[in-house]
Amino acid sequence: MTAYDPNNIFAKILAGDIPSVTLYEDEDTLAFMDVMPQAPGHLLVIPKQGSRNLLDANPAVLAKLLPVVQKLANAAKEAFDADGVYVAQFNEAAAGQTVYHLHFHVIPRHDGLPLKPHTGGMENIDVLKANAEKIRAAL
Ligand code: AMP
Repeated sequence: MTAYDPNNIFAKILAGDIPSVTLYEDEDTLAFMDVMPQAPGHLLVIPKQGSRNLLDANPAVLAKLLPVVQKLANAAKEAFDADGVYVAQFNEAAAGQTVYHLHFHVIPRHDGLPLKPHTGGMENIDVLKANAEKIRAAL
């Protein structure tokens, strides 16, 4: 199994070395807006403890992470009046993983509206902040 690389971009967000539009934080978990959203409200939930992905994660960390994913999924659904919520998590490049720190994607979905491509265009920061405000209000 490939070792965790602590120089990945989400580790830098956790260290405060690069900015993020934060939605939620507790002792073990951070949630923030995805900068290349596949739909409005696309957010990411990550554990503070480093693991490359789900395959090498500590089960005790997963046990704390999933309730936060659930909390954010409900908030994002409510904030965007969505019909459903897509929750995704990729392990290794073959499965679509591009950032090697475990993360769950949470994406509000509306009937008949397709998702934009994965890691497509960067969203305007003011749009991300406004969408984050809506989600925070629903938490
Ligand atoms: P994955 O393919 O599951 O590894 O997805 C990584 C996700 O991280 C993609 O949806 C990217 O848009 C997103 N992403 C990459 N860099 C950043 C960043 N600095 N802040 C927020 N999201 C990011």
